[in-house]
Amino acid sequence: MSSTKSPAKASNPKLSCASHHIIGDFDAKVVTAEPGQHDHARSSLFKSFDESVSSGLGRLQRLPLELLSSICLLLDLQSALNFNQASRSARETIGSIPQYHRLREHSLECIWALFRTGLSHHTSISDLHAALLTELCVICGSFGGFLFLPSATRCCFACIESAPDFRIISFHSLQKESRRLATWLKRSHPVIHSIPGSYSSREKEYTSRRKLVSGHHALQFPRADHDEDPRAILGKLPDSPVLRCMAACRLPYFNLATGDLQLGISCKGSQIAMEANFSDANFSRRERLYSRDGFMRHLWDCVEAKELWASSEGGMVEVTEPEFTRRGGL
Ligand SMILES: [Zn+2]
Ligand SMILES: [Zn+2]
Repeated sequence: MSSTKSPAKASNPKLSCASHHIIGDFDAKVVTAEPGQHDHARSSLFKSFDESVSSGLGRLQRLPLELLSSICLLLDLQSALNFNQASRSARETIGSIPQYHRLREHSLECIWALFRTGLSHHTSISDLHAALLTELCVICGSFGGFLFLPSATRCCFACIESAPDFRIISFHSLQKESRRLATWLKRSHPVIHSIPGSYSSREKEYTSRRKLVSGHHALQFPRADHDEDPRAILGKLPDSPVLRCMAACRLPYFNLATGDLQLGISCKGSQIAMEANFSDANFSRRERLYSRDGFMRHLWDCVEAKELWASSEGGMVEVTEPEFTRRGGL
């Protein structure tokens, strides 16, 4: 399986000398589990038992397997887990569906994040699988190495922090401004329960859990004639990159045709540019991820990366690089 191969150590010397993974840096900015936290789930979630002892599926047994599989893909994550635990036959059915297999292999971080944030009831297996197979950010079209959890949408880090569609607001602020009862709001909106950790580019650990709502969902709640326009309510509330990052996690891209898995790579040249001239534009460049093919195209336009390539004499000589990239973004 090619999933664990680091592109930075791939056979292409241009990739090796001018690009790198900054996984550690991004892991400190979005929802991230502790290392090893998914080991048990990886070996058991949505997987058949080795010994097959069928206990039957009741009336569902009469359905053709194709139809049963299609129904299972429409389940939300929580319902899928409940069905999976209902019987050995249910577990075997789930374990035989390729989409479930791919999600267990490549999306455990997102599955864990969706359960922990309370969004597992609101995310269908088919939507999550579609996001896994989507390469580009749905907003800007650049390589998207992330999932926006409330809508299971593939996105890039820049759009998480700035796109209007990915706005996240405090539940209590929404309640205060809309003058709605908390119980009514909870019934009308998927509530996100943040996970303690560090987020965005802030050097701070957020230790308590907060209730959040996506701006997209806040705009959709039903209202009476005398209610204030939800857009006006949103306009009064602060737009925080920290809250936005509490509703996003890393998601690799799985290429169904080739079986290739990509986390996205960063350009060392953009780190050099940012250290030489710290500006918003250069910071955005530094945060951008590329697919391997996308990076080879980028190399033609990136002055600093081309200089790195030239001074490495075609990848044959070790070059001095920024400490940040040398440490792998940690
Ligand atoms: Zn984007
Ligand atoms: Zn570059």
